[in-house]
Amino acid sequence: MTGEHQGGRSRRDGGSGPGTGPLDADSPGGPWPAAPVTDAPVTDAPVADAPVADNPASAAPEAAASGPGSTEAGAGGTGAAEDGPGPGAGGPERGERAAGAARAQPPRGVIGKDGAVPSFGAVDGSVRPPEPPAPAVRVRGLWKQFGEQIAVGGIDLELPAGQFVGLVGPNGAGKTTTLSMITGLLRPDSGTVEIAGHDVWRDPVAVKSRIGVLPEGLRLFERLSGRELLGYMGALRGLPDEEVHRRTTQLLDVLDLAGSQHKLVVDYSTGMRKKIGLACALLHNPEVLFLDEPFEGVDPVSAQTIRRVLERYTGSGATVVFSSHVMELVESLCDWVAVMATGKIRAHGTLAAVRGEAPSLQEAFLELVGAGARSAAGDSLDWLGGGAR
Ligand code: ATP
Repeated sequence: MTGEHQGGRSRRDGGSGPGTGPLDADSPGGPWPAAPVTDAPVTDAPVADAPVADNPASAAPEAAASGPGSTEAGAGGTGAAEDGPGPGAGGPERGERAAGAARAQPPRGVIGKDGAVPSFGAVDGSVRPPEPPAPAVRVRGLWKQFGEQIAVGGIDLELPAGQFVGLVGPNGAGKTTTLSMITGLLRPDSGTVEIAGHDVWRDPVAVKSRIGVLPEGLRLFERLSGRELLGYMGALRGLPDEEVHRRTTQLLDVLDLAGSQHKLVVDYSTGMRKKIGLACALLHNPEVLFLDEPFEGVDPVSAQTIRRVLERYTGSGATVVFSSHVMELVESLCDWVAVMATGKIRAHGTLAAVRGEAPSLQEAFLELVGAGARSAAGDSLDWLGGGAR
């Protein structure tokens, strides 16, 4: 994929908090309790993401100086420095969010994968249709052009809250460009993006405290260990040291990185980098999580672990938006999908609606992106194979 991103920041974690066990799977509000409110100041001035450097101490001032919304300001995957205050300042508390999610939509399981929604009786006995749930992400007229190349050609999209949303499309469809614009990493030529009702470009601090991002081409502070990286991310998010320590221990454990927690990130494998990036994106318990190809380079066991973490996360009312080429994965994970090709949305809706009459999402996808003709193109390579060299 293309697009420019920047990643993590870190600092030594501090404190030794309580609870070093696995994530609280049964917690109704999600993996963690509400982040304590910190007294970190909230400023109106958006802070763009820090250029990534091996030395976080030297990177931090640059982050502040890089200014708001500079084009393609990376954010970090781990997406945190630009956010300034942590989730306690600016973002809703976890409990509040879970309550909001519960208000905004019927309980999970009431809306089926086929989108069927029951009607509810009003107090006066009449039957009123339920209020449509507020979307997690609302995109209007999003457009991005690189020279003559229209990467994203004016898309409109509303991504439902509390669901697993898949963004699929062939190479060069515009997925990364779209996700980068939605998450505030890349300034659109035109169009608007709202996350949880906040405009990404007008109100970036409010938005970034509510989102976690695992961008493609994640760059991290290579000279920190995994644990140090999470410690630094937690501090940037404004979380108390003890809470950062607790969450870090749990995340490292659940993502099977505990044995490598003191290894420098530069020495991590591709899959390990993906997992520590995911841990950074989850650390502040965001409302919406954006993942660009989260399973690429991840072994099946780790992929299963990531799946479980994400399924529990969406089960608590949070939203996951991820891009992928792997249709089987999307089909097995997603409640809702959007299919992109040549910078446009070709179809979107519940999995069942997008799949339609096709036997699988893969078939529907090939039909939607017009790949049938292209798949026969290999027939023209008559020189390939055989005896003649
Ligand atoms: P893939 O699945 O291969 O990663 P994608 O769907 O994520 O692809 P994008 O990376 O968004 O696609 O690219 C969409 C189009 O925009 C491509 O034609 C790409 O070459 C172009 N593009 C993206 N970023 C840039 C850039 N910074 N400069 C020039 N062209 C770009």
